[in-house]
Amino acid sequence: MPIHRAIKTLISKTGWYAYNTYRKGVHYHLKLSQAAALLDAPREIIEAFQAKRLEKLFQHAYQTTPYYRELFKTATPDISQIPPLEKQDIREQLGRLCSTAFTAEQRIENATGGSTGTPLTFYQDRNYWNQRNLSVYYFDRWAGWNFGEPQLIIWGAPVDLEDDRHRKHWLSTFWRNQYWLNGFRLTDAAMLAMFEQMNQDLPQTILAYPSSLYQFATFLSDNGLIPKWKLKGIISSAEMLYPHYRALAEIIFKAKVYNRYGGREVGLIGMECAEGRMHINCRDLYLEIDSPDPYAEPGEILITQLNNYAMPFIRYRIGDVGMFSAEPCPCGNDLPVLADLLGRSTATFRTRTGTLIHAGYFTRQFYGVKGVEQFQIIQETLKHCVLKVVVNRLWTEASRRSLVQCIQKALGSDVVVTVKFVDSIPLPASGKREYTISKV
Ligand SMILES: [Zn+2]
Repeated sequence: MPIHRAIKTLISKTGWYAYNTYRKGVHYHLKLSQAAALLDAPREIIEAFQAKRLEKLFQHAYQTTPYYRELFKTATPDISQIPPLEKQDIREQLGRLCSTAFTAEQRIENATGGSTGTPLTFYQDRNYWNQRNLSVYYFDRWAGWNFGEPQLIIWGAPVDLEDDRHRKHWLSTFWRNQYWLNGFRLTDAAMLAMFEQMNQDLPQTILAYPSSLYQFATFLSDNGLIPKWKLKGIISSAEMLYPHYRALAEIIFKAKVYNRYGGREVGLIGMECAEGRMHINCRDLYLEIDSPDPYAEPGEILITQLNNYAMPFIRYRIGDVGMFSAEPCPCGNDLPVLADLLGRSTATFRTRTGTLIHAGYFTRQFYGVKGVEQFQIIQETLKHCVLKVVVNRLWTEASRRSLVQCIQKALGSDVVVTVKFVDSIPLPASGKREYTISKV
């Protein structure tokens, strides 16, 4: 390895160590090895751990949240009898779901633009984030990631930032040894520049939105550009990984794609192993399938988050459909396996100048917009877009203006955006909610 790359990796490893020690305490390395020991343990140990964590969570929820106190009526409820937590419940009873053991300052607000087309605001606590990061570190290692090694990230970079946040973002990617290619605006020039830079800096892993990864791979393939990066693996996350995305990326980058499944509300849910099976993150969550036979018939996924005590998510209906596999995985890991993960789809929009805009750009505009119950953006033509919204009493004219402006900013100021107020946005026959559709 050339000396400058070795030095950069060393600086980054030291940076990671300092950051984690500062954020998570001096015993951080010990915590990571304890987390790994549990996730590598036999099934009985994992199940016993989960049973204990569930019991503790139910007691906490019963004692400190008005919502669960009323729902459970006892501190030791039978989980199968607890009604699932719906997104609607979170929107309507946010305050009652928050634990009185946490002050407003101790709660960290988070929001989703809605992978199912429904924006949602919710709260997490510091421990939730620390535990979540430990799990990400553990599972990303399956794909060859490690602290300090160069990583190419094709992801929605926070665009249009003021200078201050730009500097912070630059500093943070520098010490993490990350290279960002903005998945929201993949221009030919940006993709070519990153390809050339990566030929110098040689990433060990890629973390990407699958659709952006596919676009990048298509661009390289169309232009006869062959990466010689010796990647250990590619982590695909945040949206549906279609088989043709995976196939092209594996050919172009000569590395395996590992599908990572998660949600902003509950963290990392599952990760694909070297054998191509999706293992469930049983350390952070308890996953159920709402089906009469979860090993034979797919059903909606219900998630109980085991670490977020600021606002417990118990049997949360995340909006995806899945099924368990009964077969032991040849990789040797004993975490249960999720077969056939269905649901979640997005579309990429195209501007008149040919720039591709990732659907995540649009859904991000809805984070924390409180007047919107549901939405769907349809690009009808290069000049016309339809925004369907189901609104509530918090909707204002300013919300409308701001959303229209965000769409025009991405697609062109002369694009006509028609806002249609509807009573509901029905699910298509496939059962997969489509919150962005491009007909271009
Ligand atoms: Zn496996």
